[in-house]
Amino acid sequence: MYKILLLSTSIFIISVMCFLWNIDCSKSTTIRQFNFNNQAKTNSIASTKRIPDKLVVLTFDDAVASHYTFVRPILKQYGFSATFFITEGFNFKTDKVNYLTWNQVADLNKDGFEIGNHTRDHVIINEQSLGQLLFQLTSINDSCEYYGIPRPVSFAYPGNFIHARALPILKTAGFSWARRGNIPELSGGEDGRGFAYEPYADDPLLIPSSGIALPAWSLEDFKNAEACAKNGKIAVLQFHGVPDTEHPWVNTTKEQFRSYMDYLRNGKYQVIALRDIARYINPNIRPKDPWDIIIKRKNGLTPNTKIF
Ligand SMILES: [Zn+2]
Repeated sequence: MYKILLLSTSIFIISVMCFLWNIDCSKSTTIRQFNFNNQAKTNSIASTKRIPDKLVVLTFDDAVASHYTFVRPILKQYGFSATFFITEGFNFKTDKVNYLTWNQVADLNKDGFEIGNHTRDHVIINEQSLGQLLFQLTSINDSCEYYGIPRPVSFAYPGNFIHARALPILKTAGFSWARRGNIPELSGGEDGRGFAYEPYADDPLLIPSSGIALPAWSLEDFKNAEACAKNGKIAVLQFHGVPDTEHPWVNTTKEQFRSYMDYLRNGKYQVIALRDIARYINPNIRPKDPWDIIIKRKNGLTPNTKIF
Protein backbone atom coordinates (compact mmCIF):
# COMPACT_ATOMS: atom_id res chain seq x y z
CA MET A 1 0.00 0.00 0.00
CA TYR A 2 2.82 2.32 0.94
CA LYS A 3 4.57 1.54 -2.35
CA ILE A 4 1.39 2.21 -4.31
CA LEU A 5 0.92 5.53 -2.50
CA LEU A 6 4.55 6.50 -3.15
CA LEU A 7 4.20 5.56 -6.83
CA SER A 8 0.99 7.56 -7.20
CA THR A 9 2.55 10.58 -5.50
CA SER A 10 5.59 10.35 -7.77
CA ILE A 11 3.41 10.10 -10.87
CA PHE A 12 1.40 13.12 -9.65
CA ILE A 13 4.55 15.18 -9.03
CA ILE A 14 6.01 14.22 -12.40
CA SER A 15 2.70 15.07 -14.12
CA VAL A 16 2.59 18.48 -12.42
CA MET A 17 6.21 19.13 -13.45
CA CYS A 18 5.47 18.07 -17.01
CA PHE A 19 2.39 20.26 -17.02
CA LEU A 20 4.35 23.24 -15.76
CA TRP A 21 7.22 22.50 -18.13
CA ASN A 22 4.78 22.35 -21.01
CA ILE A 23 3.26 25.67 -20.05
CA ASP A 24 6.72 27.14 -19.86
CA CYS A 25 7.77 25.58 -23.17
CA SER A 26 4.60 26.59 -24.92
CA LYS A 27 4.97 30.07 -23.43
CA SER A 28 8.53 30.29 -24.72
CA THR A 29 7.46 28.98 -28.06
CA THR A 30 4.66 31.49 -28.17
CA ILE A 31 7.07 34.31 -27.33
CA ARG A 32 9.55 33.10 -29.91
CA GLN A 33 6.77 32.78 -32.44
CA PHE A 34 5.44 36.22 -31.54
CA ASN A 35 8.85 37.80 -31.84
CA PHE A 36 9.49 36.03 -35.11
CA ASN A 37 6.18 37.11 -36.52
CA ASN A 38 6.78 40.68 -35.41
CA GLN A 39 10.22 40.65 -36.99
CA ALA A 40 8.86 39.12 -40.17
CA LYS A 41 6.12 41.73 -40.21
CA THR A 42 8.67 44.53 -39.70
CA ASN A 43 10.89 43.17 -42.46
CA SER A 44 7.92 42.78 -44.71
CA ILE A 45 6.88 46.39 -44.17
CA ALA A 46 10.44 47.63 -44.61
CA SER A 47 10.90 45.81 -47.88
CA THR A 48 7.45 46.10 -49.42
CA LYS A 49 6.13 49.52 -48.38
CA ARG A 50 4.18 50.71 -51.35
CA ILE A 51 5.97 53.19 -53.58
CA PRO A 52 3.50 56.01 -54.25
CA ASP A 53 2.82 57.38 -57.71
CA LYS A 54 4.29 60.81 -58.45
CA LEU A 55 7.48 60.11 -56.49
CA VAL A 56 10.31 62.20 -57.95
CA VAL A 57 14.00 62.36 -56.96
CA LEU A 58 15.85 65.58 -57.82
CA THR A 59 19.63 65.42 -58.26
CA PHE A 60 22.12 68.21 -59.07
CA ASP A 61 25.65 67.47 -60.26
CA ASP A 62 29.04 69.22 -60.29
CA ALA A 63 28.83 71.60 -57.29
CA VAL A 64 27.74 74.59 -59.35
CA ALA A 65 27.35 77.93 -57.49
CA SER A 66 23.79 78.43 -58.77
CA HIS A 67 22.75 75.38 -56.74
CA TYR A 68 23.14 77.63 -53.71
CA THR A 69 22.11 81.01 -55.09
CA PHE A 70 19.10 80.00 -57.21
CA VAL A 71 18.09 76.33 -56.76
CA ARG A 72 18.29 76.29 -52.96
CA PRO A 73 15.75 79.10 -52.28
CA ILE A 74 13.26 77.70 -54.81
CA LEU A 75 13.42 74.19 -53.38
CA LYS A 76 13.00 75.56 -49.85
CA GLN A 77 10.07 77.71 -50.97
CA TYR A 78 8.35 74.71 -52.58
CA GLY A 79 9.18 72.27 -49.77
CA PHE A 80 11.16 69.98 -52.08
CA SER A 81 14.23 67.96 -51.10
CA ALA A 82 17.13 67.02 -53.41
CA THR A 83 20.60 65.52 -53.61
CA PHE A 84 23.61 67.66 -54.50
CA PHE A 85 26.49 65.58 -55.89
CA ILE A 86 29.76 67.27 -54.96
CA THR A 87 33.06 67.13 -56.82
CA GLU A 88 36.19 69.26 -56.52
CA GLY A 89 36.85 68.68 -60.22
CA PHE A 90 36.72 71.24 -63.03
CA ASN A 91 37.68 74.66 -61.51
CA PHE A 92 36.08 74.05 -58.10
CA LYS A 93 39.22 74.93 -56.15
CA THR A 94 40.01 78.22 -57.88
CA ASP A 95 36.74 79.57 -59.30
CA LYS A 96 34.49 80.48 -56.38
CA VAL A 97 32.20 82.52 -58.63
CA ASN A 98 30.94 79.56 -60.62
CA TYR A 99 31.42 76.75 -58.06
CA LEU A 100 30.16 76.19 -54.54
CA THR A 101 32.33 76.74 -51.50
CA TRP A 102 32.49 73.94 -48.93
CA ASN A 103 30.76 76.26 -46.45
CA GLN A 104 27.85 76.55 -48.90
CA VAL A 105 27.80 72.75 -49.23
CA ALA A 106 27.64 72.57 -45.43
CA ASP A 107 24.71 75.02 -45.48
CA LEU A 108 22.85 72.82 -47.98
CA ASN A 109 23.30 69.93 -45.57
CA LYS A 110 22.04 72.05 -42.66
CA ASP A 111 18.98 72.93 -44.76
CA GLY A 112 18.18 69.20 -44.88
CA PHE A 113 19.30 68.50 -48.44
CA GLU A 114 21.40 65.43 -49.16
CA ILE A 115 25.09 65.77 -50.00
CA GLY A 116 26.27 63.02 -52.34
CA ASN A 117 29.68 62.02 -53.70
CA HIS A 118 30.70 62.70 -57.33
CA THR A 119 34.44 61.84 -56.91
CA ARG A 120 37.15 64.37 -56.01
CA ASP A 121 38.32 65.08 -59.56
CA HIS A 122 35.20 64.19 -61.56
CA VAL A 123 36.98 61.07 -62.75
CA ILE A 124 35.32 59.12 -65.55
CA ILE A 125 35.17 55.54 -64.30
CA ASN A 126 36.82 53.10 -66.68
CA GLU A 127 39.36 50.28 -66.68
CA GLN A 128 42.25 52.72 -66.21
CA SER A 129 40.72 54.80 -63.40
CA LEU A 130 39.15 52.02 -61.29
CA GLY A 131 42.31 51.77 -59.19
CA GLN A 132 41.90 55.32 -57.88
CA LEU A 133 38.12 55.20 -57.33
CA LEU A 134 38.34 54.42 -53.61
CA PHE A 135 40.73 57.34 -53.06
CA GLN A 136 38.48 59.64 -55.09
CA LEU A 137 35.48 58.65 -52.97
CA THR A 138 37.32 58.86 -49.66
CA SER A 139 38.63 62.34 -50.41
CA ILE A 140 35.11 63.78 -50.77
CA ASN A 141 33.93 61.76 -47.74
CA ASP A 142 36.79 63.24 -45.67
CA SER A 143 35.87 66.80 -46.68
CA CYS A 144 32.25 66.10 -45.75
CA GLU A 145 33.38 64.90 -42.33
CA TYR A 146 35.53 68.04 -41.88
CA TYR A 147 32.54 70.28 -42.60
CA GLY A 148 30.17 68.33 -40.35
CA ILE A 149 28.29 66.69 -43.22
CA PRO A 150 27.14 63.07 -42.77
CA ARG A 151 29.12 60.47 -44.68
CA PRO A 152 27.50 60.28 -48.14
CA VAL A 153 25.40 57.22 -48.94
CA SER A 154 24.61 58.31 -52.51
CA PHE A 155 26.96 58.48 -55.48
CA ALA A 156 26.62 59.79 -59.05
CA TYR A 157 28.83 58.44 -61.84
CA PRO A 158 30.84 61.34 -63.38
CA GLY A 159 29.93 61.83 -67.02
CA ASN A 160 27.33 59.06 -66.44
CA PHE A 161 29.91 56.41 -67.40
CA ILE A 162 29.53 53.13 -65.51
CA HIS A 163 31.74 50.08 -64.98
CA ALA A 164 30.77 46.69 -63.53
CA ARG A 165 33.80 46.56 -61.24
CA ALA A 166 32.87 49.90 -59.65
CA LEU A 167 29.90 48.30 -57.88
CA PRO A 168 31.83 46.30 -55.23
CA ILE A 169 34.08 49.33 -54.62
CA LEU A 170 31.06 51.56 -54.03
CA LYS A 171 29.53 48.93 -51.73
CA THR A 172 32.76 48.61 -49.76
CA ALA A 173 32.96 52.40 -49.44
CA GLY A 174 29.53 52.42 -47.80
CA PHE A 175 27.31 53.65 -50.62
CA SER A 176 23.71 52.39 -50.78
CA TRP A 177 22.62 54.25 -53.90
CA ALA A 178 24.35 55.25 -57.14
CA ARG A 179 22.75 57.22 -59.97
CA ARG A 180 23.80 56.86 -63.60
CA GLY A 181 22.50 58.47 -66.79
CA ASN A 182 21.04 56.60 -69.78
CA ILE A 183 24.21 54.66 -70.73
CA PRO A 184 24.40 51.81 -71.80
CA GLU A 185 20.82 51.46 -73.00
CA LEU A 186 21.31 54.72 -74.92
CA SER A 187 24.48 56.57 -75.87
CA GLY A 188 24.35 59.40 -73.33
CA GLY A 189 22.71 61.85 -75.72
CA GLU A 190 19.25 61.20 -77.12
CA ASP A 191 17.88 64.56 -75.99
CA GLY A 192 18.31 63.67 -72.33
CA ARG A 193 15.79 60.84 -72.48
CA GLY A 194 16.17 58.10 -69.88
CA PHE A 195 14.38 55.33 -68.02
CA ALA A 196 12.29 55.02 -64.89
CA TYR A 197 14.00 53.49 -61.87
CA GLU A 198 12.45 50.06 -61.33
CA PRO A 199 13.26 49.05 -57.74
CA TYR A 200 14.50 45.46 -57.28
CA ALA A 201 14.97 45.10 -61.05
CA ASP A 202 17.50 47.95 -61.26
CA ASP A 203 20.45 47.53 -58.92
CA PRO A 204 20.48 50.35 -56.31
CA LEU A 205 24.04 51.08 -57.45
CA LEU A 206 22.92 51.44 -61.09
CA ILE A 207 19.86 53.67 -60.80
CA PRO A 208 19.03 55.19 -64.21
CA SER A 209 18.14 58.84 -64.75
CA SER A 210 14.66 59.17 -66.18
CA GLY A 211 15.72 62.47 -67.68
CA ILE A 212 18.87 64.57 -68.03
CA ALA A 213 17.88 68.23 -68.28
CA LEU A 214 19.41 69.81 -71.39
CA PRO A 215 19.33 73.37 -72.78
CA ALA A 216 16.90 72.40 -75.57
CA TRP A 217 14.38 70.91 -73.14
CA SER A 218 10.86 72.27 -73.02
CA LEU A 219 8.28 71.65 -70.33
CA GLU A 220 7.03 68.77 -72.51
CA ASP A 221 10.43 67.03 -72.28
CA PHE A 222 10.35 67.46 -68.52
CA LYS A 223 6.82 66.03 -68.36
CA ASN A 224 7.98 62.99 -70.35
CA ALA A 225 10.84 62.46 -67.89
CA GLU A 226 8.63 62.49 -64.83
CA ALA A 227 5.62 60.72 -66.38
CA CYS A 228 7.19 57.36 -65.53
CA ALA A 229 6.69 57.99 -61.79
CA LYS A 230 3.85 55.49 -61.35
CA ASN A 231 3.13 51.79 -60.91
CA GLY A 232 6.00 51.30 -58.46
CA LYS A 233 8.53 53.17 -60.61
CA ILE A 234 10.39 56.32 -59.58
CA ALA A 235 11.50 59.28 -61.72
CA VAL A 236 15.09 60.25 -60.91
CA LEU A 237 15.91 63.56 -62.60
CA GLN A 238 19.42 64.81 -63.33
CA PHE A 239 20.22 68.52 -63.36
CA HIS A 240 23.42 70.52 -63.50
CA GLY A 241 23.66 74.28 -62.98
CA VAL A 242 20.67 76.64 -63.13
CA PRO A 243 22.24 78.33 -64.96
CA ASP A 244 25.50 76.52 -65.74
CA THR A 245 27.87 78.84 -67.59
CA GLU A 246 30.84 76.49 -67.02
CA HIS A 247 29.05 73.52 -68.61
CA PRO A 248 26.71 75.11 -71.19
CA TRP A 249 25.88 71.75 -72.80
CA VAL A 250 23.87 70.83 -69.68
CA ASN A 251 22.60 74.32 -68.87
CA THR A 252 19.10 74.86 -67.51
CA THR A 253 17.81 78.42 -67.49
CA LYS A 254 16.10 79.91 -64.46
CA GLU A 255 12.85 80.15 -66.43
CA GLN A 256 13.01 76.49 -67.49
CA PHE A 257 13.72 75.36 -63.94
CA ARG A 258 10.94 77.42 -62.42
CA SER A 259 8.44 76.02 -64.94
CA TYR A 260 9.54 72.44 -64.08
CA MET A 261 9.24 73.02 -60.33
CA ASP A 262 5.87 74.76 -60.77
CA TYR A 263 4.67 71.70 -62.68
CA LEU A 264 5.74 69.38 -59.84
CA ARG A 265 4.18 71.57 -57.19
CA ASN A 266 0.90 72.07 -59.04
CA GLY A 267 0.74 68.35 -59.80
CA LYS A 268 1.27 67.51 -56.12
CA TYR A 269 4.38 65.43 -56.72
CA GLN A 270 6.40 64.15 -53.77
CA VAL A 271 9.93 65.47 -54.38
CA ILE A 272 12.69 63.82 -52.36
CA ALA A 273 16.45 63.26 -52.18
CA LEU A 274 17.97 60.01 -53.43
CA ARG A 275 18.71 58.73 -49.91
CA ASP A 276 15.02 59.14 -49.03
CA ILE A 277 13.99 56.22 -51.24
CA ALA A 278 15.19 54.05 -48.32
CA ARG A 279 11.68 54.72 -46.93
CA TYR A 280 10.37 52.42 -49.65
CA ILE A 281 13.26 50.27 -50.82
CA ASN A 282 15.75 48.04 -49.01
CA PRO A 283 19.12 48.69 -50.73
CA ASN A 284 20.45 45.36 -49.50
CA ILE A 285 17.96 43.46 -51.64
CA ARG A 286 19.68 43.50 -55.01
CA PRO A 287 18.84 41.77 -58.28
CA LYS A 288 20.63 38.50 -58.93
CA ASP A 289 21.96 39.86 -62.21
CA PRO A 290 22.17 43.69 -62.22
CA TRP A 291 22.62 43.74 -66.00
CA ASP A 292 19.48 41.74 -66.78
CA ILE A 293 17.06 44.71 -66.78
CA ILE A 294 19.58 46.81 -68.73
CA ILE A 295 19.94 44.15 -71.42
CA LYS A 296 16.17 43.74 -71.62
CA ARG A 297 15.72 47.47 -72.11
CA LYS A 298 18.51 47.58 -74.66
CA ASN A 299 17.11 44.64 -76.60
CA GLY A 300 13.69 46.24 -76.51
CA LEU A 301 15.13 49.35 -78.10
CA THR A 302 17.31 47.68 -80.70
CA PRO A 303 16.72 43.93 -80.99
CA ASN A 304 19.73 41.62 -81.16
CA THR A 305 22.19 44.33 -80.17
CA LYS A 306 24.77 43.23 -77.62
CA ILE A 307 25.88 45.88 -75.20
CA PHE A 308 28.90 44.18 -73.65
ZN1 LIG B 1 29.31 65.53 -63.23
